[in-house]
Amino acid sequence: MEYSFIQSIFSGELISNLQCLNCKKITKSVEQFSALSLELPEIKQQGFFKQLVHNQKQSISLQECLDYFYEPVIDSLTLCSCGARSGKRQYSFQQQSNLLCIHLQRFLNKTQKDTKHVSFPIKDHNFQEYFNLDSEQNYRLFGIIVHLHDQGGDHFETILKCQNQQFLSIKDEIIEIVSQKYVEECEALLLFYEKVDNQIDLFKASLRKNLQNQHNMIKNQELLLKDEELCYLPHFWFEQFLHLAKPPSIITSHLICPHNLLKPDYWDFRIEYENAKSAQYNSQLDTNTSFITIGEVQNSNSPAYIQESSAYKQLQLTSIIIPKAVCEFLIEKYGGGPIIEKNIKTCSTCLEYAQQMSRRRKLERQLIIKYENLQGYDRIFVVHEEWLKKWQAYLYNSKQILQRNSLFGYPPPGEITNYLLLDKDQQIVQQKKEGQHFHMITAPIWHILQEIYGGGPTISINPHQQQYEPFKLQMDDLIQIKEIKVLYQNCINQYKPEIQQ
Ligand SMILES: [Zn+2]
Ligand SMILES: [Zn+2]
Repeated sequence: MEYSFIQSIFSGELISNLQCLNCKKITKSVEQFSALSLELPEIKQQGFFKQLVHNQKQSISLQECLDYFYEPVIDSLTLCSCGARSGKRQYSFQQQSNLLCIHLQRFLNKTQKDTKHVSFPIKDHNFQEYFNLDSEQNYRLFGIIVHLHDQGGDHFETILKCQNQQFLSIKDEIIEIVSQKYVEECEALLLFYEKVDNQIDLFKASLRKNLQNQHNMIKNQELLLKDEELCYLPHFWFEQFLHLAKPPSIITSHLICPHNLLKPDYWDFRIEYENAKSAQYNSQLDTNTSFITIGEVQNSNSPAYIQESSAYKQLQLTSIIIPKAVCEFLIEKYGGGPIIEKNIKTCSTCLEYAQQMSRRRKLERQLIIKYENLQGYDRIFVVHEEWLKKWQAYLYNSKQILQRNSLFGYPPPGEITNYLLLDKDQQIVQQKKEGQHFHMITAPIWHILQEIYGGGPTISINPHQQQYEPFKLQMDDLIQIKEIKVLYQNCINQYKPEIQQ
């Protein structure tokens, strides 16, 4: 199963026991859940007198929803080995998560919502009975999401429990402290509980205090440490450390490039690119100005560049600064790493590489544009579809991919894999169809691709034996292709790990 951050925090396991109604055989299966989704049972009719006395909105409890969830249901969709199609399904808990998300199924369909009140534990509560556990297990409410009906459509309110035990209500830009009664009466859609472990809580409380003190002292310059004695700790981890029973490992490796420096980000690269463009524009006299060679490579080692790099600013925004020794302790305890020192430099090599990759793409696109509509050539050359897709993904990386995944985007494809279309007699395998397994391109494009990527073989389909002028690349095209190949070779030799991402 693919790793998911949400799953790793919320995931628990249910056992579904399915008993065949015919042969009584029981089939157990484990189901993962990240939110426990509960149907709301009907309210048991209360007598008129009771209603009058209590004078309150009709209400059910979370316990009743869970009881309803545990009730066996008839499932007629599975086939038993005896041939019968109906079984009795009943759920039980196998493993609870540190964080428990309970979803109350209020939406009956697109337009109808069940607005009945569901009461739920607000103070620390033993969930042993709720989950049929062997031993006591306390959970603590820390968040609620409420669905509001508004003229403007769907709206949500978030209620959070703060460290000082107060509740905060957040509705868009309105944030206010609310009473416990307000919380008790809200129409919850999602409830968030965390496991309470008193021993860990004590340890965490002292560590938290210590960490916060150190952080504040550094901020207020009461504790003066040299840059090499300080390091960055991701803010999101610090938050998890404060709020989760079991904080995950401290993930920082995605910030570091293969040269053990701070990985530049998309915007670092764009700034240089934009500068380069305007420099090119402003200095028409300097014909050697290409955006690879403009000063940024020298500049990128200077302190100014380190401070101005977007990756560095981002790091500052998303981290707290603590003493390196403390961070070492935390990484030893919780795993993860590496340590990101305060004086880390943004990698200029990676930046240069990203610029080279970008230049390569640009040159390659120029060539394609130059020849794609050349008169006098029909589409008679075959290219393997899978290879073509990889090539397109590489050449036309969207901005989003560059921003999200890496500075470098998808790698170029390897050699052309036309041979995968052929049988042992070098004929196209019969089942392979145009548009599905291969595409047709013109002679100029085929020559460019083969010149850059190699591989093959050349396959042409020319049923009417039409004669074409033989195509030859011009000298300056060949020079351009040579540059494309050199740029890539430079990159691939040094940056294999990054390219394979
Ligand atoms: Zn059966
Ligand atoms: Zn690097």
